[in-house]
Amino acid sequence: MDTQPKASHFIHGAYVEDNNGTPIDVIYPATGAVIGRVYSATPEIIEQAIVSAKSAQSAWAKLSGTERGRILRRAADIIRERNYDLSVLETYDTGKPLSETLCADATSAADALEYFGGLAGSLTGEHIPLADGNWAYTRREALGLCVGIGAWNYPTQIACWKAAPALACGNAMIFKPSETTPLCALKIAEIFVEAGLPAGLYNVVQGLGEVGAALVSDPRIDKVSLTGSVPTGRKVYAAAAAGMKHVTMELGGKSPLIIFDDADLENCVSGAILANFYSTGQICSNGTRVFVQAGIKDAFLKRLCERLDNAVIGDPQDEATNFGPMVSLRQLESVLGFIKKGEEEGARLLTGGNRISGGGFYLQPTVFTEVTDDMSIAREEIFGPVMSVLDFTDEADVIARANATEFGLAAGVFTTDLSRAHRVTDELQSGTCFINSYNDAPVEVPFGGMKMSGVGRENSKEAISHYSQLKSVFVRMGDMESPF
Ligand code: NAD
Repeated sequence: MDTQPKASHFIHGAYVEDNNGTPIDVIYPATGAVIGRVYSATPEIIEQAIVSAKSAQSAWAKLSGTERGRILRRAADIIRERNYDLSVLETYDTGKPLSETLCADATSAADALEYFGGLAGSLTGEHIPLADGNWAYTRREALGLCVGIGAWNYPTQIACWKAAPALACGNAMIFKPSETTPLCALKIAEIFVEAGLPAGLYNVVQGLGEVGAALVSDPRIDKVSLTGSVPTGRKVYAAAAAGMKHVTMELGGKSPLIIFDDADLENCVSGAILANFYSTGQICSNGTRVFVQAGIKDAFLKRLCERLDNAVIGDPQDEATNFGPMVSLRQLESVLGFIKKGEEEGARLLTGGNRISGGGFYLQPTVFTEVTDDMSIAREEIFGPVMSVLDFTDEADVIARANATEFGLAAGVFTTDLSRAHRVTDELQSGTCFINSYNDAPVEVPFGGMKMSGVGRENSKEAISHYSQLKSVFVRMGDMESPF
C-alpha cells in the first residue's frame, strides 16, 4: 500500500499542500521505517480551512436533517465497503494489529455515521403551550464551526465519532489528527466528498499542538472537541473558556477493574486481558488497576500467565498477530520508564517488562503484582501494556480505593452476585461501568468521563446536545400589555 498521502491537508473538498510548515515524518511502528511525510499547517492553511468551513456551514444547516443524514449514511456504506483497505492503513498509522483494526476502527466509524445519519432527521424542538393562548417553541440549532482534535490511538474512530454528530446537527468541522497518526482522517475526508458532502464541511489540517492551539483560540470557532491527555485537556479547556466556546473533553484514565472471588475465572481473566492488552494497552478506558479479592488471587494469576502465553506478537499486518507494537519510540520509552519505577517502588514484576528486540517499538505484555495504591504505576496513566494487580478483601474498602483517583473514565466489576454488581457500580465514580465485561463502546451508549477524565459525552443521543444549541421562541397571540 502506498502510505504517502497526496498532500498534507484536505480543505474545501481537495488535497492542499504547503511545505513551509514543519515536516512531520510518519513512522510505521512495526519497523520504525518512515512511510510518509506531512507538513504542519501554516497560518495560511489554517485560515484557508476556517474560511472554507465558515462559507459552507449555513447552507448545510438549512438542509433538512434527512438530507444531511442521507450523506452521512452513504459515507458509512463506503467505509464498510473499504473496510479492508482502511484497516490496513490504520495498522500502518498506529501499529495496531490487523486482527483488531478489521473489526474495531473503520467499522466503529461507520457505526457512528450510520447512527447519527439516522438520527439527523429526528432532531426537533418542542412546542410549549402557555397561558392566554400564548405559546413558545424551541429550535435545535447548529453551533456553527467545530474543531476536532484527535489522539493517536484510534485515528479513524476519533475522526468519525466527532464528525458524525457535528455534521448531523448542521455544523462544519475542522479536524486536526494527532501528529503521530496523520493518515487515516484524510481518507475519511475523501470518502465524505464521494458520499456527496459539500466542500468545506469536513476539512483536515495536520499539525503539532500549536496548530490545535491556533484553531482553539480563533474567535470564529464555536466548539472544540478534544480527545487527548488531561494536561492537554486543561490547556484546551482554558483556551476555549476565554472565547466561551462549547467543549467536549475526552481525556485520560486510570480505571479500576474489581474482581470478586465469586467471579467466573475464565471470564475475569478475559476481561483483565482485554482491559490491559488490547491495542497494546493504548486505550483511555483501560482497567489498569486490577483489584483482585484474596480468595481468587492465586487462581487468577496462574490462569492469567497461562493465557498470556497465547499472545501472538509479531507483524501487525499478519491477521494471526493479536499483539502489536507501541505507537512510537517516545511512547515505548515512556512506558519503560513506568516499568522501571514500578520495580524501584517495590512492585513484583510477574511477567514481561522488556522491549522486544528488532526494529519496531514492541514491548512485552507486562504484569505487576503486590502493587500498592501509592505507587506511581497505580496512580498515573501509563498508556501501555502494563497491568497492576492490587489485593483486597473488603467490598467497601475496594470501592473507596477504586475511587481514590483524580480520573473517572471507566470501571469494571466481575462477580456472579447481581446485587453486589449493581451496588458497587452505583458507588463507582466513572463515566462508564462494565459488569462482567470490559471496554464495550457501542455507538448507542454515551461515552465520556467524570472528574478529570472529561466533560461532555460522545456517542448516543446525548452527543446531540453537545453539538447543538436550543433557541426558544415566544409567540404572543393577543395584544401586548405594558405599564404605561
Ligand atoms: P495528547 O494530549 O498529547 O494530544 C492530543 C491531541 O492534542 C494531539 O492532536 C495534539 O497535537 C493536540 N494538542 C497538544 N497540545 C495542544 C494544545 N495546546 N492545544 C490544542 N491541541 C493540542 O494525547 P495523545 O498522547 O495523543 O493521546 C493519548 C491520551 O489521549 C491519553 O491520555 C488517553 O487516555 C487519551 N485518550 C482519551 C480518549 C477518551 O475518549 N477519553 C480516547 C483516546 C485517548
